Amino acid sequence: MKIIGDYHTHTNFSHAKGTVEENVISAIQRGMKEIGIAEHGPKTLFVGVSEKKLHVIADQIEDLKDKYKEIKILFNMEANILDLEGNIDVPRTIVPRLDMLLVGFHPNIIPSRGYLPILYNNCMAKFSSSRKKIARKLNTTAMINAINKHDISIITHPGHKIDIDTHELAKVCAKRNTALEINCRQGHKLKDFVDTALDEGVKFYINSDAHHPKDVGVMDEGIKLANELNIPKEVIINSI
Ligand SMILES: [Zn+2]
Ligand SMILES: [Zn+2]
Repeated sequence: MKIIGDYHTHTNFSHAKGTVEENVISAIQRGMKEIGIAEHGPKTLFVGVSEKKLHVIADQIEDLKDKYKEIKILFNMEANILDLEGNIDVPRTIVPRLDMLLVGFHPNIIPSRGYLPILYNNCMAKFSSSRKKIARKLNTTAMINAINKHDISIITHPGHKIDIDTHELAKVCAKRNTALEINCRQGHKLKDFVDTALDEGVKFYINSDAHHPKDVGVMDEGIKLANELNIPKEVIINSI
């Protein structure tokens, strides 16, 4: 299996190392045909990228498209789920510029009022099994509402750090044509629900989630995981 696109990479606009251009150069060196810069949404605690900076990234990408014609450069974003209604932190002016919307459940966000029940129950989950159940239900509701509400291309690192009903997740992803990510850094959780996802007809992407240019387009871990879990390459969108 060979992977030809990496749609989830970070830069020094957030907490990662390296510039947008360094990620592009690295992707070319790794033989990628497409590279996505997918920075953290503004509400990510400490490392969120502001609306203004997201526009700077989009502008830089426009310039780099002329300079590196051998690769397709995409302006993506890794947004956060903010509340039970499934609202996400994509600024309104960013939406029309986005090539792909990625959404990940990150527990560490700047909490709004609507996030408090999710935060509270997830914090208490380790002390009480009833809280754990409630947390799982709330996490699942928030994620399903987000997928139904927005045009999401990929759910990043599903199940990482957050307990969700992965069967329900797979069903809604199949219905809405939202892919699940095989994340090269945090993919281990996938094994809990890969069979359900395959039964439902969900598609996958393998992404690096690189936080350093040297990791862009390095897909060995994801390929290994896909092989271990018997995920056929036909359902991995960025494979050939
Ligand atoms: Zn993430
Ligand atoms: Zn990420």
